[in-house]
Amino acid sequence: MTQNSAAPLSGRVAVISGASSGIGEATAERLSARGAAVVLLARREDRLADLTARIGRNGGTAVPIAVDVTDAAAVRAAADRVAAELGGADLLFNNAGVMLPAPIEELAAGQWQHQIDLNVTGLMNTVGAFVPQLVEAGTERGVADLISTSSIAAQNIFPNFAVYSATKAYVTHLSRHLRAELGAKNVRVSAIEPGIVGTELQDHVTDPGALEWLDGSKETMEWLTPQDVAATIGFLAELPPRVNLQQVTIMPTGQPS
Ligand code: NDP
Repeated sequence: MTQNSAAPLSGRVAVISGASSGIGEATAERLSARGAAVVLLARREDRLADLTARIGRNGGTAVPIAVDVTDAAAVRAAADRVAAELGGADLLFNNAGVMLPAPIEELAAGQWQHQIDLNVTGLMNTVGAFVPQLVEAGTERGVADLISTSSIAAQNIFPNFAVYSATKAYVTHLSRHLRAELGAKNVRVSAIEPGIVGTELQDHVTDPGALEWLDGSKETMEWLTPQDVAATIGFLAELPPRVNLQQVTIMPTGQPS
């Protein structure tokens, strides 16, 4: 595959879940600016329409598909559309997620289930729908990418973040196994593990202790921006096909752990 240096991802089709805000939105803009056609998955249609228009104004191609990734049939239908309209995906950025910390003794079973449904089951629905396309692209065109957003919570210990952290440990461990399984088919598999990134993720937090910790951390460090993470995803995708960064930890310089 020859690379156009102005648009190194030209010809590639990137599907991004959680594309309506934060890291997913910034990554859609980044991959598009580098030449990829992007498929935008999230529930908020208005946000996807705005992003599609912005990408279009900048000369890119975006296809918005409003979908709840916890609905397996809807994600499969989205994958069928990508196959029909764009010839299939060769990059999946599996990124939709939610973080709802709370002391375990509060027994916030609804929040536990929400995190498991989205961060684990939703992620698997997307893997299931798009892996056949990635394998086809890897086999026929020599490279495809399956990149998932994990977190430093997959490795580190944060009291009150047990369920969220466990869902992210799932994402990292799954990715290691899928890399071993899919590498022979030219599908690179990576987990990206960010520290704190300023996005809407924190807006969903209701636990007072976690909110206080997050607020306090703003005083002592400069949080990452979604664009910082997006640039890293672009870097992974632009590496030579023989190179697979399996696991990438990206921290705010001032965040100790
Ligand atoms: P945001 O809240 O800004 O983004 C979350 C995205 O997920 C939104 O686009 C949202 O769109 C989408 N989403 C939520 N529920 C669903 C659903 N059921 N179906 C489809 N899409 C859904 O937060 P971030 O950008 O920070 O989060 C992206 C990922 O990064 C998450 O996996 C998060 O765990 C991870 N992460 C974030 C860190 C941070 O500090 N911000 C640190 C480490 C990891 P919509 O509501 O329109 O559906």
